[in-house]
Order: sequence, then C-alpha cells, then structure tokens
Amino acid sequence: MKIKLILLFSILAFVLSMPFIFNKSVTITDPHKLDADDNFIINEWVEARESAAPDWNYNLKPVQVSDRVWCFFGALEMPTKENAGDMSNSCYIKGDDSWIAWDSGPSYKFAEQAYAAMIKIANLPVKTVIVSHEHDDHWLGNNYYKEVHGAKILGPKSINVNYYGPKDVNGTKYPGMQTRMIKTLYQDALRKTELVPVDESFEDTTNFTLSGVNMEYVRVGYAHSEEDWFLYLPDDKVVLVADVVMNGRVTSNRDGIVIGQIEALRAIKSRDWNHLVPGHGFITDKTAADESVQYFDLTKTRVLQAIEDGVAADDITKTVTLEEFRDKDLYYLLSPGNVFRAYEELEMYDPDSDEPVVAKKAKKED
Ligand SMILES: [Zn+2]
Repeated sequence: MKIKLILLFSILAFVLSMPFIFNKSVTITDPHKLDADDNFIINEWVEARESAAPDWNYNLKPVQVSDRVWCFFGALEMPTKENAGDMSNSCYIKGDDSWIAWDSGPSYKFAEQAYAAMIKIANLPVKTVIVSHEHDDHWLGNNYYKEVHGAKILGPKSINVNYYGPKDVNGTKYPGMQTRMIKTLYQDALRKTELVPVDESFEDTTNFTLSGVNMEYVRVGYAHSEEDWFLYLPDDKVVLVADVVMNGRVTSNRDGIVIGQIEALRAIKSRDWNHLVPGHGFITDKTAADESVQYFDLTKTRVLQAIEDGVAADDITKTVTLEEFRDKDLYYLLSPGNVFRAYEELEMYDPDSDEPVVAKKAKKED
C-alpha cells in the first residue's frame, strides 16, 4: 500500500512538472529587464539614500606629471563607500587660456573638489572634458563641468548608447542608467551627480589643438571596454591612457578582450613618450605599461596553451594562475575572472583573422 502511494505521488509530481520539463519557451513578463542583447538585467533600481551629512571630502592633491599635466591618483581598490569612488586616475592639462580635463572621476563632488585644487595652480576655466571609456569611475564628474563651466564633453559613443536616459521602468522615467557607482556611494559623495551625454564623438583617431595644446585622441576600439580611447600629447611627450594600462593592481578584463588589449598596448608603445598615466596605478615613468604588457602576453600564451592541452573551462582558473602577479592588489578578486574571460574569448581565437570573436558582455566594470 505504502509503495503504491509513493508511486502514485511520483506520477502526480511528474505530471505536474511536465509543463516545466517540456515547455522550454519562457514568457517574458518584464521586458524592461532585458538589455539590448536579451540578457536579463538583474539589478533593480535603488532609491537614492538621502542624507544631511556634509559633502564628502575627497582630500584631493594634484600631482604634477609634466610641465602642463597634473593628475589625481586614486586608490588601488574597487569602488566602496570608504573610498567614495576615488579609485581611478584623472588629469588636468594646462592650456593657454583654459584647462582641459582628461576623465572626470566618480562624482560631481569629486570634479568640483578637483577643480578647487587646480585653480590654486592656475585660475582658468575648464572648457573641454575628454573621456577615455564608458566605465563610471571615469566620467560621473562630467555634469559638474557641463553645468558650472559649460564645458564641451568629447568621448566615446558608447556612453550615450549604453548609459544615457531617460529610461522607462514600469512607467517611471529615470534620468539614465543607475550605474554601479550610483548604487555604491553615499549621498554625501554622490550629491548632484547626474548622467550627462557626451557632446561629440569621433569615428576614428583625431588630431586637434585645444587652447594651444596639440593632441592626438587615439581610438583603440574594443580593448578594456567596448570602446577605448587614449590621449597623446606629442609636444609634451605624455600619454594619458586610462584603463588599457594599470599598474600595482590587477586589471579587470570582464568587459574587455585580451587581443584588443595587446593591440592597444602596441599602439601606445608606438608613440614617443616619457610619461604615461595609467587609469589605475601610480607608476608614470617609461616602465608604466610593462606590467600590463606582461599580464596580457602571459594570459594569452598560457590560456591558448591550456586550450590546446584540452583543459576544460571549469579547470582553467586552476591551471592558469599568473603567479607573477600574486602580490599585486586585487589579484585574488579579479585575476581568476580575467583568466576565465580570456578562455571564453581565446577558445574562438583565429590567429589569421584580425576580428576577435567575442560575445558582448552586459556587465560594466571599472
Ligand atoms: Zn575601466
């Protein structure tokens, strides 16, 4: 009797689960939770944390890199409430009658305080902001320069395409995508920060002179992110490269590709410079790019070798560990992810083709 009952229940359970087993089509009830590639967007909108606390003091100190270039160097960390997003590098270039900002940092307050520090060096307005790539630790200060200085923002198209609103969520209009930084930081740091679109984008590498400073804005394409650019100042022999180079810490290649990174590093090397400012890290001399060159060369060689040896995706982070970088910041947090991502990319790598085969990623990292 007991066995018969169990059997009966089993059959009943099977019949009840049939629609789930056999019906593979899923009805999407919340289409706003899909991005352009039909991936689910798992993050929900978080209400802003209201706070009466005084503005966060970033305590910014500009470091002079060359005659005309000063930079602010951020912590070698992920963005946290403790560092208030001050974990990337941004620079100011001194023109004849204005400052040119290279990346604007993680918030309006950061940009406001950076400018307050810079006018002690020269009391000039910021007429242009040039942005390296779409990751939000590099451009959330843009609206400060736009609103207070009326600056023109030059940057990658991908910012306008991937971030700029208004977004309609269940009938409520939001000014733009709620980025990682906006979810992480407290109001005392985030106050007044709003996403503003880039005013002008370029299709390819472009030379221009701003306030008497000659510049080459170099398109490197899909490397660390969907669309990376670096800024070369030929008369100053300075190159501002943002996240295609990091030192002192391991990079985050979750949105990037190894082959694109190696190409970007080659393009940087082909310019004549004495100082290079990375997106993260404090080394700015002629050795500044060495760690990144080694990291991506080793990743490519070792992951390709492992694929040839038949190592499965599941085992790749145990096989390729990049021991040389164990002492660098964020190694344990980011390096396994970079190796896994490289495996996904290089599995489809064809050395005879210039076109890297990679699925576009939905996630946006630093
Ligand atoms: Zn980045």
